[in-house]
Amino acid sequence: MPRKIVVTSALPYANGPIHIGHLVEYLQTDIWVRFQKMCGNECLYFCADDTHGTPIMISARAGGISPEELIGQMHKEHESDFKSFYIEFDNFYTTHSTENRQLSEQFFARLNEKGSIVTREVEQTYCEKCKMTLPDRYVRGTCPRCGAEDQYGDSCELCSATYQPVELKNPRCATCGTQPVRRESKHYFFKLVDYGQQLRELVAGGYTQRSVANKLDEWFKVGLKDWDISRDGPYFGFKIPGEENKFFYVWLDAPIGYMASAKNYCDKNGLDFDKVWNSDEYELYHFIGKDIMYFHALFWPAMLIGSGFKTAEKLFVHGFLTVNGEKMSKSRGTFIKAGTYLKHLNPECLRYYYASKLSNGIEDIDLQVEDFINKTNSDLVGKFANLASRSAPMLTKKLEGLLGELDGQGRELINKLAAAKEQIIGDYEDLKYASLVRRIVAMADEANRYVEQNQPWVTVKTEPEKTRVVLTTIINAFRILTIYLKPILPEYSKRVEKFLNVDELRFADVERVLENQKINDFERLFERIDEGQVNAMIEESKEGQSPQPAGPAQTEAVEAEAFKPECTIEDFEKIDLRIAKVVNAEPVEGADKLLRLVLDVGGPQRTVLAAIAKAYKPEDLMGKIVVYFANLKPRKMRFGLSEGMILAVGTGGKDIFMLSADAGAKPGQRAL
Ligand SMILES: [Zn+2]
Ligand SMILES: [Zn+2]
Repeated sequence: MPRKIVVTSALPYANGPIHIGHLVEYLQTDIWVRFQKMCGNECLYFCADDTHGTPIMISARAGGISPEELIGQMHKEHESDFKSFYIEFDNFYTTHSTENRQLSEQFFARLNEKGSIVTREVEQTYCEKCKMTLPDRYVRGTCPRCGAEDQYGDSCELCSATYQPVELKNPRCATCGTQPVRRESKHYFFKLVDYGQQLRELVAGGYTQRSVANKLDEWFKVGLKDWDISRDGPYFGFKIPGEENKFFYVWLDAPIGYMASAKNYCDKNGLDFDKVWNSDEYELYHFIGKDIMYFHALFWPAMLIGSGFKTAEKLFVHGFLTVNGEKMSKSRGTFIKAGTYLKHLNPECLRYYYASKLSNGIEDIDLQVEDFINKTNSDLVGKFANLASRSAPMLTKKLEGLLGELDGQGRELINKLAAAKEQIIGDYEDLKYASLVRRIVAMADEANRYVEQNQPWVTVKTEPEKTRVVLTTIINAFRILTIYLKPILPEYSKRVEKFLNVDELRFADVERVLENQKINDFERLFERIDEGQVNAMIEESKEGQSPQPAGPAQTEAVEAEAFKPECTIEDFEKIDLRIAKVVNAEPVEGADKLLRLVLDVGGPQRTVLAAIAKAYKPEDLMGKIVVYFANLKPRKMRFGLSEGMILAVGTGGKDIFMLSADAGAKPGQRAL
C-alpha cells in the first residue's frame, strides 16, 4: 500500500532573498519528498512565504512601497530561486492569504473557547519618533541582570538572561536612537503552560530527534511561559477579531501558513482538506532549522492540540550552514545568494554536495570550497557521468546503439548493485544522505573498475559482440546508480532517462535490466568546475553588500546607528586596551553562549567569559590575537568571575566578529 504523506519546510521570510544557508533545508526536504514519490508514495510538499511582522513593514517603508508590493516581489523572487534549484513544491503559497486569515481566526476562536487565551496589561516600549511599539530586536540597552551594555530587548548575549524590553536599562530605539517611552497596553496571551504535560508526552513519544528532545527537556525543567500572541498597530498582519488596532503576532499565523498552503492546494485540486491535513490517512512531517525549535516543538503542537488538530508524526531538525568552517559572512563573500550561485555554478552540484554532508542530526554542515570543487569533479564528473560518457557514445557510434545481453560477470556486478537498494531506501527514509552517498560512490568505483578491467575501447575494434556485452553491463550499472541518485540529481536523471530511452525511473526499476534495446544519442551530463568560477561567485557576493532595494530592516537599522556623544582623549585614556593572546578556550557549562577564555596579556593571565560560543569554536581560538579591555571592572557572573572583556562587533549569536591586530603585535601591548 503506498503511503500518503504531507511534508512542510519552514517558511522563508519575505524580507530578503534566499541564500545558500536557507537552501540546506529546502534541499534536504526536496530530496526526501522526491525519494517518497520515487517509491510510489503520494507525497505533498507545502510551503509559503512568511509575510507578516515589523521587519516587513519597516522594509516596505524604507523602500517606499506597500508591504503587499514588497511581499509580492519577494514571492516571485523566491519562487524563481526554488525552481532553479529544482525544489519542487506542490504548493508555494503566502501567509498573507484569505485561507490563512480564516484559519488563524479559527485557531484563535477555538483556543479562546477552551480558555487557553487570556488578556493582560503589559508595559511596552514605544518610540514616539518612529511612531511604533518597538519589538524586542528594535530596542537596545543595558542588561538588567549583568549590566552588559548594548543588548537586545529580549535577551542578553553575555549572561543569557531573558527579559522584556521594558526591563532594559537606558533603552533606545535601534532604528533612530531615541529613548523610547513606556506605554501600557492590553495583550493576548496563549497559555502554553496548560499544555506542558501533553507536550512532554509528545516529545517522549519520539516527536523529534533525541538531541532536540534533550534541549526541550531543559526548557521543560525551566518551566514553560505563556506566550504573547498580539501586537499593537501599526503592524503588518491579521487584525484580531473584535479589536481595532491589535494584530496577531507573526509567529502565530506563520505555522498556520502550512495549513493554509495545504488548504489552497486541496481546494484547487478537488481534495478534501480535512482528510489531507487532519486524518490518520496522511502522515505529516515538518522540516525546520534548529533556530526555530521553540516555535515548532512547543507553541505549534500546543496550538494544534488546543484547536483539535492532530500534530505531526515527526519534526525533523537540521543544523546551520558554515562555509570553510566559519559562519556565512558578507565581508568574506560567503553570504551567497541563490541567484548569485546560479550565475556561476550548476545547482545540482550544490544539491549533491549538501546531500554528501547531511545526516539526520542537528550538527552544522560545513561547505568547504575546495572539497566542493573536488566532489563535483571527482564524483559527479569522474565517477558517475564518466560511466556513461565512456560507454554510451561507443555503443551509439560503433554498435548501432543497440544493447546486448548480460553475461555472468556482468550479471554479478548488476546483482550486487541492485542488492544495495533496501539500504539506500532505508538511508533516504532516515535522512542519512551522507551515508547513502558514500555507498553510491563506492558502487561507482566498483563499476569503474569493471570498465578498466574490460577495456571496451580496445576490444571494440576486434570483438564487437563481446564489447556490446560489456557496454550493456556498464549502461545497466550506470542506470541503477542513477536511480539511487535521482532524488538528489533530478535534472541529471531526466537527461539520463532521455538517452537511455526509458520512462521516469523509480526505485521499482532497480530489478529490471535493459537488454536488447536501443538507446539514444548521449548528451553531456556534467561539466567540471574550477576555482575560478567559485572565486568569481565569492567576489560577486562581496560586492553584493550594498543594501537590497527593500533592505533587510534589522541589520541596516543597526548599521545606521548614530555616534555616541563626543569625548576627549582623557576620557579615552581611562580605558586600557591591550593586545592579548588566547591561551585556552573552553565551553561554560550551563551557558551555551559563553566561552571561558584564558588570556596572555604580558603579565599574569586573565580569565574572561565571552558570549561568542555561537560564533567561534574553542579549538579555533587557541593562539588567536585579540583586543582586550583590561581595566573594565571585573564582573561576578553565575559561571564565575569575568575579568575585563574582549572587543568584538556584530549583532550577537552567530553574527560576532572579534577584533584582532596586525601581525607583529605582542601580548600586553597597550593600544594608543
Ligand atoms: Zn525610533
Ligand atoms: Zn546580561
